[in-house]
Amino acid sequence: MSQTYFTLKDILSQMREQSSDARDIVTRAWEFAQKAHDGQKRLSGEPYFQSHIASTGYYLAEAGMDASSIAAGLLHDTIEDTQITPEELEKEFNAEIRFIVEGVTKLGTIKYRGMERHVESMRKLLVATAQDLRVIIVKMYDRLHNMQTNKFHEPERQKRKALETMEVYVPIAERLGMGNIKAQLEDLAFATLEPEKYEELTHRIDERKKEVGHRIDEDIKDLKKTLGESGLRDFRTEYRVKGVHSFSNKAHERYNDDLSAVLDLFALRVILKNTEDCYRALGIVHGLWRPIPGKVKDYIAFPKPNGYQSIHTTVITRRGVTVELQLRTELMHRDAQYGVASHFNYKQSPSPHTSKKTTFEWLQNLIPNLRRRTMPTQNGVPTPRWLRDLSYTQEEHPESQTFEDILKKDVFAERIFAFTPKGDVIDLPLAATPIDFAYSIHSDVGDTMNGAKVNGKMASFESTLKNGDVVEILTSKNAKPNHKWLGVVKTAGAKSHIKSALKKEEEENSH
Ligand code: MN
Repeated sequence: MSQTYFTLKDILSQMREQSSDARDIVTRAWEFAQKAHDGQKRLSGEPYFQSHIASTGYYLAEAGMDASSIAAGLLHDTIEDTQITPEELEKEFNAEIRFIVEGVTKLGTIKYRGMERHVESMRKLLVATAQDLRVIIVKMYDRLHNMQTNKFHEPERQKRKALETMEVYVPIAERLGMGNIKAQLEDLAFATLEPEKYEELTHRIDERKKEVGHRIDEDIKDLKKTLGESGLRDFRTEYRVKGVHSFSNKAHERYNDDLSAVLDLFALRVILKNTEDCYRALGIVHGLWRPIPGKVKDYIAFPKPNGYQSIHTTVITRRGVTVELQLRTELMHRDAQYGVASHFNYKQSPSPHTSKKTTFEWLQNLIPNLRRRTMPTQNGVPTPRWLRDLSYTQEEHPESQTFEDILKKDVFAERIFAFTPKGDVIDLPLAATPIDFAYSIHSDVGDTMNGAKVNGKMASFESTLKNGDVVEILTSKNAKPNHKWLGVVKTAGAKSHIKSALKKEEEENSH
């Protein structure tokens, strides 16, 4: 096998900007894991450590993750596949690395059993995330390498892993802005799930590449020359062909499967020094080539919900090729590829254009209905205090806090996420009760509540909910709120609903 493996040196060279302590801990993790996995082989016959473990660690370093994540990536299979215990990891490294490795190990126990189980998987992933987003990022790169080597498994298992990747991991990668890994996972899964379609599309994309490839090369030369002549010096270009799956998706959703109608099969990226240069370049490009009307999108001024920023425009070049241009800064480029992962790098204070993106917003990307629950628009319930605290924290100490600090401190210290039996996420303050949960669903549910089950067992109304609890509220038409509840609930919303229900009842009784 002519496979070359990533080495410790490769990983350390991706960590150039990190401290020597950071490199040291990664070096120790490398040596520790190498010893622990000694003699183990993958199904492909390759050595387990050099192939799977080294790749996972390398991808994390490449994405710009911090030393703890890279070390945890190197150690991620030690608990499951070797004699190493969580306690040993903590002793040898630290509690943080232990936590990430244990989290990844727990996620590994989720088995994919079709759609209804999918919700359950998502739930577990989200709970893990709510405690430390790095757990999910390490898991994501573990999955990437597993998908790259998926073909060595039996066909049925290949399909199952591919389906799970498509339904669970791809959407998460998308929501965390991790464009690079999303595109890779999506194409790997697609190739397994629909091999014929994948083949056909790959073939057609290759044909088209052959047809116009050299013309595009010439066009790129023109563009560079013109940009340079206009005084833009500090820039580079990158040319790429759209992923097979996203190509197929777009053709299907928008153009009735007409592949030739997809205009942005070829994307030409121009990576510039700053935002002003991006806008200048847009003007220059439109002077050089003919833009297609209605295709200019300014995601710099209006970022996508996952934080993506760039200016897009589709043009017809002088040699008659339709190309999508993406104009962006180096930082936007990094963000577009690695998303949240690129924010974990050691001591790097939030960049100007990302500093507004809070943990809450990342989390909102993962939990679509979070906004609905926490930003009530009815009954005048105010924006939760913790949300205001969050923006306060960031404005107050913008340079002294890393993204990671903010992540650890804010939301998760004071909030819990509980789930309905169907998997909806309910966001609550610490020490919230089943009564708070019931009122967060709907005031009618709270007003008619007559029992609660937590994780399948009957629980008292005033019990304290924990992160990840599944809560089922039992209701009865004749049930009524009771005065005692007022002293128990933690949310303002529940309190005000209980008061108004009690008042209404008093009025009815007095007549
Ligand atoms: Mn693994």
